[in-house]
Amino acid sequence: MQGSLPETRGSAGSIYVAPSLAAALDALNDYGPAGAPFAGGTWIMRSPIRHEPLREHYVAIGKITELRTVQIGNDAVEIGAAVTHAALATALAGLPEFDVLATAAGSAANPAIRTMATIGGNLSTPNFAAADCVPALLCLDAEVEVSSRGDRERMSLNDFLKARPTLAPGRLLTSIVVPRTRRKTAHTRLPLRRSGDYPVAIVSFAARLDALNRVERVRVAVGSVEPVARRWERLEAALLGRALEPTQAANIAAELAGEFTGRDSVEAPAWYRVNVLPSLVRRATAAALGS
Ligand SMILES: Cc1cc2nc3c(=O)[nH]c(=O)nc-3n(C[C@H](O)[C@H](O)[C@H](O)COP(=O)(O)OP(=O)(O)OC[C@H]3O[C@@H](n4cnc5c(N)ncnc54)[C@H](O)[C@@H]3O)c2cc1C
Repeated sequence: MQGSLPETRGSAGSIYVAPSLAAALDALNDYGPAGAPFAGGTWIMRSPIRHEPLREHYVAIGKITELRTVQIGNDAVEIGAAVTHAALATALAGLPEFDVLATAAGSAANPAIRTMATIGGNLSTPNFAAADCVPALLCLDAEVEVSSRGDRERMSLNDFLKARPTLAPGRLLTSIVVPRTRRKTAHTRLPLRRSGDYPVAIVSFAARLDALNRVERVRVAVGSVEPVARRWERLEAALLGRALEPTQAANIAAELAGEFTGRDSVEAPAWYRVNVLPSLVRRATAAALGS
């Protein structure tokens, strides 16, 4: 298979800088399981620390113009997979309905990492429970486009997360599509120290409220507590129709938090990740009301 690749793609242990999306998809297809996309490289570079083997071939996607743009339309915002966290936070700065995503992209890791790490890498990284943009995009009902040579498929982010562990070689997350609608949103995270740490727990929140602040539609998503971020549907159902009030929302969250099975790690024990959820819900709802 590798013998059929143009020489410019390099030999074993190579990084091929793809000049176009078509070239990237061709290379990924040809490399098969020996190859993988290389976006910001902030996760891949730490593979040795995690005792994970590197792939034989990487296809760098950072120079592909169409993957580096944020298109703000009237009905939706479309984000190229190679848009960095820093660029995304800047692009969304004037759109209050996207506060949750702008905060997620603008507060993850540290400033240097944010200029490298991409939104596509954040969603695609397997076994990365603490990815900030995943819960933020879950509560915005995001869809993603996944491309391979000759094929492009749109699916919900939730379905992508389910498919992610078995995503066939040659497939590339190419864009994220987020519908525009009136909503108040917020992203809250608890790092152990002030910044630079992976968060112990994340709560992302989005709600449409009526004139009396009653909840007409709501999404709450939780990250870093379980291995994969997910929506907190029982809390959403309990908040629906009520006037949004942060302390009451936290009290309901405390009653329902038992449904989470926290993950143990060197950074934080499982029980702690679950215990902090009510106060993150209180902070998220207060921030959304103030947005
Ligand atoms: C010290 C440190 C702290 C960090 N803290 C946080 C944090 O708190 N919160 C947070 O969210 N992030 C954090 N990050 C950043 C995190 O690494 C990135 O958010 C993200 O997981 C990787 O993005 P990347 O573009 O660097 O991906 P890469 O490292 O290039 O790739 C990661 C994985 O995704 C695959 N991949 C990349 N792009 C695509 C694509 N378009 N389609 C399919 N597969 C793809 C790669 O093949 C690889 O398997 C931190 C990073 C560091 C180094």
